[in-house]
Amino acid sequence: MDLTRFIRDIPDFPKPGIVFKDITPLLAEPRAFHYAVERLAEHYVHHEIQVVASAEARGFLFAAPLALRLNKPLVPLRKPGKLPYKTHALRYDLEYGSAELQLHIDAIEPGARVLLLDDVLATGGTMEASCRLIAQAGGKTIGCAFLIELMFLGGREKLRPCEVFSLLQY
Ligand code: AMP
Repeated sequence: MDLTRFIRDIPDFPKPGIVFKDITPLLAEPRAFHYAVERLAEHYVHHEIQVVASAEARGFLFAAPLALRLNKPLVPLRKPGKLPYKTHALRYDLEYGSAELQLHIDAIEPGARVLLLDDVLATGGTMEASCRLIAQAGGKTIGCAFLIELMFLGGREKLRPCEVFSLLQY
């Protein structure tokens, strides 16, 4: 199945010069959504993974069905003020300003092997921060998975030595 048929390019969103990869057509087509999750599962089913984790928000849409499919715990990485229990926190720099991600302190067992997932790999800044937060919590990121990779931005370099896997490359 050609998943690119279900990715819609939206030029100049959210700002001029950015071509936004809109995944909502894929979410709206159960056969395509199912196929995408199966392809991700196929890649990781023989990896030793203890946890599937993802930063909000669109990553959750793929992390949840993948965690169920792999029969692994799902751990959300969230923006400040969203998680109700005690948290680990990590601040990271964005192009303009900074952002923070949080994780419940009991979400990751010491040494747990974590698969991180997001919808799009752009510059890799968000995923790099997620990896650092997992490390801070005592886990080890063994893979970074994406539905879409924007190759021309070179995000995977930033994620070395972590294994990077993407279903679609642009
Ligand atoms: P990154 O630059 O890799 O840190 O990307 C930041 C976040 O923005 C990621 O979670 C992506 O889901 C999202 N994102 C970045 N660029 C795009 C794009 N062109 N289309 C859709 N989502 C994007």
